[in-house]
Amino acid sequence: MRNGFQIYDTHTHLGVARHSGRQWSLEQMLASMDRYGVDRSMLIPFPVVDDHRHTHDTIAAAIRAFPDRFAGAACIYPFIPEQQFKDEIRRCAEELGFGAIKLQPQYQALNPLSPRTDFLWETAVKHKVPVIVHTGAGAPFALPSLYIMPARRFPELNIILGHCGGGIYAGECIVAATVCPNIYLELSSCMPHHIREVLNHVEPSRIMAGSDVPESLEAEIGKIFTLDLDDAGKRAILWDTPRKLFDGVTA
Ligand SMILES: [Zn+2]
Repeated sequence: MRNGFQIYDTHTHLGVARHSGRQWSLEQMLASMDRYGVDRSMLIPFPVVDDHRHTHDTIAAAIRAFPDRFAGAACIYPFIPEQQFKDEIRRCAEELGFGAIKLQPQYQALNPLSPRTDFLWETAVKHKVPVIVHTGAGAPFALPSLYIMPARRFPELNIILGHCGGGIYAGECIVAATVCPNIYLELSSCMPHHIREVLNHVEPSRIMAGSDVPESLEAEIGKIFTLDLDDAGKRAILWDTPRKLFDGVTA
């Protein structure tokens, strides 16, 4: 809670990143959340890990220890045998209580236009969990507009465009969210002027905030508080939208 607002950090990473060497422990995550008034965080594996099952178990342990503070997302290298992929998503959704699947096309090069990617969307629909997609760096598969295609073909699936196109493709995110009611936008790494433009076209009930990494938390949350937006809009971005989408809880 900060300035009277509950805060949901919808995009942060727990564990060890094999590609960058970054690592965040549960203790560091909790300390960072407490310092900046974050009530709840969506814990996502880094996109390249040594062992995705181990990372999922680490996130599940955090959720079990602090069920009010954490939600979890599954993230799996998509070119393992398809049944292994599906089995692990089922384990995460049904046994570990995760509320989302993450796709990071910069490191997990699935083409969102290809029917060969349908196993991902179909698995998400089967377990009734939304898919968070990293957008921006990693084009072409990380281009926001490409996700219009699966969003239209799977209308019961919700897709969150992470990083809102990384700022440079914020316009594509506006188009995607405008033509698809099941596309949502997450604002980490966008500049305030990008967000202003997004808000000219997309309702706060389709927008959420995230840090990506705890060292960006203060800047990312501060960005929302300084927007020229009424309190109801800020409340939607900071809490109500992700609370409904990931936890099924309406205010
Ligand atoms: Zn990320």
